Amino acid sequence: MVIKCQHEGCNRTTVVECIKPELAEYPGDLHALEEEARRKLLAQYVEYYCPEHCQAHGYCWNCGFHQADPANFSVEGLCPNCEGKMELP
Ligand SMILES: [Zn+2]
Ligand SMILES: [Zn+2]
Repeated sequence: MVIKCQHEGCNRTTVVECIKPELAEYPGDLHALEEEARRKLLAQYVEYYCPEHCQAHGYCWNCGFHQADPANFSVEGLCPNCEGKMELP
């Protein structure tokens, strides 16, 4: 199955798995679920966007995690966490 960017009008198939912020509010214990049940549940909390459109939807294109504050993104569209990792020592 080919996955396309979910941004309207975008047909790119190179996509990032983006984790919806709602997953953090999931009331149960993910690790207590069986593999199959966990995969089904996670599928409801994932969106797919190409690296170009991740930021427009609030996601870091590198790690796929949602950023509460869009001002957190670097010019490259990275979240503070990923930007820190990519800096050369
Ligand atoms: Zn796109
Ligand atoms: Zn990131």
